[in-house]
Amino acid sequence: MAEQTGRPEFWRTTLDELEQQINTLKKGKATIAGSSAGGRPIYQVTYGEKEDFHRQANYSSACGARNPNYYADKSNGAKPVLYIIGGVHGGELEGIAGVLNLIRVLETGEDYRGQRWDALYTKQERFRIILIPCANPDGRARVPVDTMVGQSYEMFRRFVQGTWKDGTLCDWPGCKSVHPIKEHVELLGGYFNDDGVNIVHDRFYDPMAEETKLLLRIAELEAADFCLHLHGGDNCINHILKTAYVNRRVREGQNRFNRMVQEACELRELEYYVNDTESRPEDGDRPLHSASIPPCIMFAGGSVAHTRRIWDWITVD
Ligand SMILES: [Zn+2]
Repeated sequence: MAEQTGRPEFWRTTLDELEQQINTLKKGKATIAGSSAGGRPIYQVTYGEKEDFHRQANYSSACGARNPNYYADKSNGAKPVLYIIGGVHGGELEGIAGVLNLIRVLETGEDYRGQRWDALYTKQERFRIILIPCANPDGRARVPVDTMVGQSYEMFRRFVQGTWKDGTLCDWPGCKSVHPIKEHVELLGGYFNDDGVNIVHDRFYDPMAEETKLLLRIAELEAADFCLHLHGGDNCINHILKTAYVNRRVREGQNRFNRMVQEACELRELEYYVNDTESRPEDGDRPLHSASIPPCIMFAGGSVAHTRRIWDWITVD
């Protein structure tokens, strides 16, 4: 790994740092939920017991029967289930740092800077929380730095999306023009698992990657109420991508969350881009992010699922 100076103590994004933290958990339960294409463990950390939702049908069938309680009956005050996923794109380090700091808060009440988050710490009892700190450890292992701060745009693109056989940048969104990408590249970027699959754009009705199957299986098993995919990029303002092809309940939940994040960012004087809360991405001229993993997570278990893009540590506060 390239030597980098000036990295703050709280900015932890490496697979070694992830494993070190996993080994010190006292409140949370860590399991190896699956393994990557390259054989690396994918860790899951949970807080709060899994409740019995008296399942008698999958989500689709229950909706067909006009009652999602057949899938997960939460009418008796069941705890909401939160499902947070970092590192689906292994070069987008912000989400990994965010989840590792959240675990630290849930364990001790303070993050890796030593800042206390008492409300988060005490309110965790009200939820079942499922955290995947790094869903794509193959991609993370391929990225030779632990922050993109100080890297040129070209190096950032090189690390994250890789280069074609002729040495030019795969770039974005051109890196999605072939899938899987492995046989077409000189340098495989951190976006992809070791088979060159972009988990965000896998074949969701016949997934190619074990990582994709794992993320969908957890959503289905846990009946997650709320799912957050943490992405980054270092080249855009904080925002939440609206999820396409979701029902009104999910869309309204996403809008509420969007406004809450906006207010939290304003309070901290962080730049935040608000997507038009009335728009429906699927209504555009072309399908934008139409077949990515968040709507499929919703179809698997009915959760309010969306993608959050956050900046590198300069603006994470
Ligand atoms: Zn991403």
